[in-house]
Amino acid sequence: MSIKKMLLMIVSMTLSYSIILFFVQDLDWIRTFIGIAAPIIASLFIIIQLCRTTRTTKGEQAYFWLLILVGSFFYMCSSLVWLFHLLTTGTVSSTPLSLLLWLLGYLCFFIGIIYRIKAIQDKRSDGQHIFTIVAVVIFAVSFICYFFIEPALTMVEQRLNLPHYIIIYPIAGISILGANTVLFYLSIHLKEKVAIIFLTFGFFTQIIGDALYTYQIMEDKYQVGSYIDVVWLTAMLFIVAGGYFATKQPVELNWKVIHFFTKADTSFPYLIMLSLWLLTLYSYAFQLNALSIGFSLIIATLIIYQLKVVRRHSQLIKQYQTLAYYDPLTGLKNRTSFTEEFEHLLAKAGRFNQPVGLLVLDLDRFKNVNDSLGHQVGDQLLQKAANRLKQLSDQGVEMYRIGGDEFVLILLGRTRKQVSQLADRLRDLFQPSFYMEHHELIITPSIGIAIFPDDAIESKTLFKYADAAMYSAKESGKNDYVFFNQSLNEDLIKKFMIESELKHAINRNQLKLIYQPKVKLSTNSLYGVEALLRWEHPELGLVLPNQFIPIAEETGLIQSIGEWALWEAAKQTLKWQKQGYTDMCVSVNVSAKQIEQQDLVAIIKQIWLDTGLSPSSLELEITESIMQNIKQSAFVLNHLKQLGIKLSIDDFGTGYSSLHILKELPIDTIKIDQSLISTMHDSRSLAIVKTIINLGKNLNMAIVAEGVETQEQAEILISEQCDYGQGYLFSHPIDPKQISDQFLLLKKV
Ligand code: C2E
Ligand code: MG
Ligand code: MG
Repeated sequence: MSIKKMLLMIVSMTLSYSIILFFVQDLDWIRTFIGIAAPIIASLFIIIQLCRTTRTTKGEQAYFWLLILVGSFFYMCSSLVWLFHLLTTGTVSSTPLSLLLWLLGYLCFFIGIIYRIKAIQDKRSDGQHIFTIVAVVIFAVSFICYFFIEPALTMVEQRLNLPHYIIIYPIAGISILGANTVLFYLSIHLKEKVAIIFLTFGFFTQIIGDALYTYQIMEDKYQVGSYIDVVWLTAMLFIVAGGYFATKQPVELNWKVIHFFTKADTSFPYLIMLSLWLLTLYSYAFQLNALSIGFSLIIATLIIYQLKVVRRHSQLIKQYQTLAYYDPLTGLKNRTSFTEEFEHLLAKAGRFNQPVGLLVLDLDRFKNVNDSLGHQVGDQLLQKAANRLKQLSDQGVEMYRIGGDEFVLILLGRTRKQVSQLADRLRDLFQPSFYMEHHELIITPSIGIAIFPDDAIESKTLFKYADAAMYSAKESGKNDYVFFNQSLNEDLIKKFMIESELKHAINRNQLKLIYQPKVKLSTNSLYGVEALLRWEHPELGLVLPNQFIPIAEETGLIQSIGEWALWEAAKQTLKWQKQGYTDMCVSVNVSAKQIEQQDLVAIIKQIWLDTGLSPSSLELEITESIMQNIKQSAFVLNHLKQLGIKLSIDDFGTGYSSLHILKELPIDTIKIDQSLISTMHDSRSLAIVKTIINLGKNLNMAIVAEGVETQEQAEILISEQCDYGQGYLFSHPIDPKQISDQFLLLKKV
C-alpha cells in the first residue's frame, strides 16, 4: 500500500469513528460500548501487525519492533482492565493494576526507542540534529510541566479526591516525546524513515490524547466515547501504519512538512525559542515592565540575527550541494547524483513496471586530444560534447558526466526500440566535427546500453553491463552502440579474472615473450625483431597484450611486467648474439607509465652491467601516449639516448601529436601504424603513408611499416622507398627458437 493510500485510510477510519460517536452521543450505552470496543479492536490490529513486523524485520530493527509490540500488548491489557473496572463499577477511573500495565507499556515503548537510538547512533554519530533535539525536548518538558503537571499538582493539593498518579501521564508523555524526537531526527536518512515517521506521529497523537485525558479527569468531565477516544484511535492507526511500513519500506517521501523538519531544522530551534518566549510572556499575562521589554527586545534581536546567520548557512550549504552534485565543467549532474538518483529511479520504475534504459557513453580518442592538444582543449571539447547531449534533455533524458569523458544517460519507460532510436540520434549529434583553437576534431561516441529489468535489476550490475557493452562498442570499431548481452557478461568475467590473476603472472612463470621479425623490404632479410608479450594462463588460455596491458597500466603492475620484459628480451638477445648473430637488435615495447614512474635508466644500466649486452642491441618502442607528460618523458628519453639506446615511435599516424613528438623526442625509427598500411588502397591513406616516409627520410629516421599482410602492400612500400616492414606476410610473432631456426640460420648461411 502506498503512503497516500494509507493516510487516506487512516483519515477515513478516524472520520467514520467520529461521525458514529457524534450520532450516538446521547445514547449512553451504545456510545460507551463503541468507545470501548474500538480501541480494543485497534489494539488487536496493532498486535497482529507488529507480530508480522517483528518477524519480517531483522537484527536490531526486529528487537525494536518487538519492544513496541510488547508495549502495545501491555497497553491493550491496561485498557481491558480499565474497561472491566468500568463495566463492574460504572466509574471511569484507572485502577492500580490498569495504571501499572499502562506504565509497563510506556516503559517498553521508551526502552524500545532508546534501544533504537543507541543502535543508529553507533552507526552514524554526526550529532547534526542535536541542537534541534535539545530545543524540542526543553520546549516539551517546560510546556507540559507548566500546562499539565503544575495545574495537576495544584489540583491534587486542592481536591483530595483527585489521585496523585494523575501526574504520571504527562511525565511518561514527556519521556516518550523526547526520546521519539531524537529517534525521528536520527532516522531521517535511513531507509526505515517512513516507518519511524508514522510511529512518531502515532506516539505524539497518543501523548496528546493522554494529556487531554488528564485535563478532562482533572476537570471531572471525561466520558467514554468522547473526542479523546478519536485521538487515541488515530494514534493507534498510525502505529499500525508504522509497523506496516517497516516491512515494506516505500522509497518516496517528498512531503514538504518532512523537508521543513529536516532541511529547515537549523531555524527550527529558534522558532521554538520564539514560541517559548511568547508563552513566558503569556504566563505573566503580558504584564511587561522596562526590564522584561528590554529582555524581549534583546531576544528578538538575537533571534533575527541568528535566523539571518542560519539563512546564510543554508545558502552556503546549497552552494556546497551544487558543487557536490554537479559537474562544474559541463553543468551536468555528476557521479554522486547518478549513484543516488539511479537507485531511486529504478525503485520507481520497479513499482510502475516500467523499463529503464541505461546508456554509458564514452568519447572515442578523447585521451589523444587531451594528451596532444592539452587539457584546456580537452575541457572545451567536453563542454561542447555536453552541450550537444543537452539537446536531448527536453526528451525526458536524465544525463550525467560521471568521469573524464564518460557520460551516462537514463531513459525512463522506453522500449528497446525507442532506446536504440535515441542512440541513433546520439550518434547523429556527434556527426559534425568540433572546432577548437584552429583544430577540427572528429570525435565520435561509443555507447553501451543495458535495460532494466531485462538485463539486470540492480543498479550496480546494470551499470557494469552497460559499461561492458560500451567497451565492446569501442573494440568493434567505435562510433557505435551495443546492447548488453550474456556473451558480453562472459567477457566481463574474463576481465575481472585478468585483473585478479595478473599479479601472479610473473611469479607463476606464465609470461613469455615471442618475437616478430622486422625485415629489410628490398632484400627480405632480417633487420631485427620486436618482442611481444604473451600470457599463458591455465584457465584463461592465451591472453593477448591488448587485453592485459591496459589493466596492468591501471593497476600499476606494468612496472614489474615491463621490467621483466626488458630483462627477458635482453637475455634472449645475448643468447642470439652468443650463437653468432652479433648484430641482432631487439625492440621492446615500453608503456608511457613506465617512463613516467619507473627509473628506466637505472634498470637498463643494471641490465648492461649484469648481462654485458651492448646498448645498441636494444631499442625501445614508445607510443604517442608519452605526450601526457612530455617534459619528464623527454628528460628520461634523452638520457637513454645519450647512453646509446635506440628509440622508435610505435603506431605512428594515429594520434594528434605525431609531428610534435618528432620534434620533441630523440626518435630513430618511425613505425607506421598498421591501420594506415591496411587501407593503402585508399588514396588518402596512401598519401599519408607517402608523407610519413618522406618526413622520416628528411629527418634521417628509419621507417618501418607495421602490419604488412600482402605482397601488394610490400610492393607499394618498396616503390615508395620504405626501408623496413613487419607483418604476417613475413612472419607472425614466433618463439625465440623458431627465430633462430627460420631466420638466423638463413642469415648465417
Ligand atoms: P605493437 O607494438 O604495435 O605490436 C604489433 C602488434 O601487431 C602485435 O600484436 C602483432 O602481433 C600484431 N601484428 C603484427 N603483424 C601483423 C599483421 O600483419 N596484421 C595484423 N593484423 N597484426 C599484426 P600483439 O602482440 O597482440 O600486441 C599488441 C600490442 O600490445 C603491441 O602493439 C604493443 O603496443 C603492446 N605490447 C606487446 N608487448 C608489450 C610489452 O612487452 N610491453 C608493453 N608495454 N606493451 C606491449
Ligand atoms: Mg610495438
Ligand atoms: Mg604498432
